[in-house]
Amino acid sequence: MKTVYLDNNATTSISPEVVDAMMPYLTDIWGNASSVFYSVGQKAETALAELRESVAKSIGAARSNEIYFTASGCEADNWAIKGIAFAHKRKGNHIITTKIEHHAVLGACEFLEKNGFEVTYLDVDKDGFVTPEQVEAAIKDNTILITIMTANNEIGTIEPIKEIAEVAKNHKVIFHTDAVQAIGHMPINVQELGVDMLSLSAHKFHGPKGVGMLYIRNGVRIENLIHGGGQERGKRAATENLAGIAGLAKGLEIAVKNLDSNMAHMKKMRDKLMNGLLERIDYVKLNGPDDERRLCNNVNISYEFVEGESILMRLNMADICASSGSACASGSLDPSHVLMAIGVPHEIAHGSIRFSVGEDTTDEEIDYVLEKMPQIIDRLRAMSPMYEEFEEGKLESFTKNL
Ligand SMILES: *Cc1c(COP(=O)(O)O)cnc(C)c1O
Repeated sequence: MKTVYLDNNATTSISPEVVDAMMPYLTDIWGNASSVFYSVGQKAETALAELRESVAKSIGAARSNEIYFTASGCEADNWAIKGIAFAHKRKGNHIITTKIEHHAVLGACEFLEKNGFEVTYLDVDKDGFVTPEQVEAAIKDNTILITIMTANNEIGTIEPIKEIAEVAKNHKVIFHTDAVQAIGHMPINVQELGVDMLSLSAHKFHGPKGVGMLYIRNGVRIENLIHGGGQERGKRAATENLAGIAGLAKGLEIAVKNLDSNMAHMKKMRDKLMNGLLERIDYVKLNGPDDERRLCNNVNISYEFVEGESILMRLNMADICASSGSACASGSLDPSHVLMAIGVPHEIAHGSIRFSVGEDTTDEEIDYVLEKMPQIIDRLRAMSPMYEEFEEGKLESFTKNL
């Protein structure tokens, strides 16, 4: 069997249609979109306008001039947060977010805290949810921004974004959402959601790496993150990455077009994998919700008495790709901040594995994982001093009463 790739929350393969859509901009149409006094540049400028229009349509934006291309999802998040903070600092210095945001959001907030801003990190419940009521209670006179992710990349929790956006609007506070994991996995329409700003990243929906987008609703005042030239209506300097933007636009177009059938397929694969693992392996805990409010492609389970890294090594030997947390978090010894926030005890948080299926995941691949995983966990537990102590009755199980 070929490599079983079940880490689609980390990145996705680039689709052939996306490559085809990018090729003209790596070959014939190489002009600078700002050099409009000759046809080489004009072609690029025209293409850029069309791509912007296509992206606006895909996310339901009212106008294409609300679409700003960036070099990543991380940049879009950083810009949204720092850009609002600096543009509105005379009005206030308070920002509201949650404890389970992506590191791009948490890192930007921590930077602002060191520079005179105050950040409220909202708690989440055991499945990772914040409520609109919690958000409302945290709003103060000096609150200038609320930033809460649409869907969590580690445990798949889909937050009540529309309701939170309503609260923000009632209090005249700007609302940003990181929708990087949501695109391609649930319907996203910026006007229906009522958000002021939304981030996405092409490589999470079969586009190329190194290109993202920030939607900024007309009328929202934001400071630049990158200063210099007049690109992106003077808001973000840098010669446009036309090939990357074409890849983003195509990936998005396909993701939106095939959303219903993709979602149905991924949900089927997810449930087969999730239920199969929970049935076959003892002393486990599902992380994140087990209902409609879970991303259609995410499975995150903690396996007691074993280390996530050891599981990953053995999965790799079986040619299966998964993750022991977010890619940024794995490699550090601290357990994931998301698992800590939902109250997973340290002891079992270390033994957590995230599988994220894709639209091309097959029944055979899931069967293969369901055959391998119980063997891997059995072998690792057979070598685990903790498991031995547990079997001798000297250690309590954390998952027993779940
Ligand atoms: C991947 C990811 C990002 C970062 O996007 P990059 O393009 O890789 O910088 C931000 N937020 C979430 C939720 C993500 O999953």
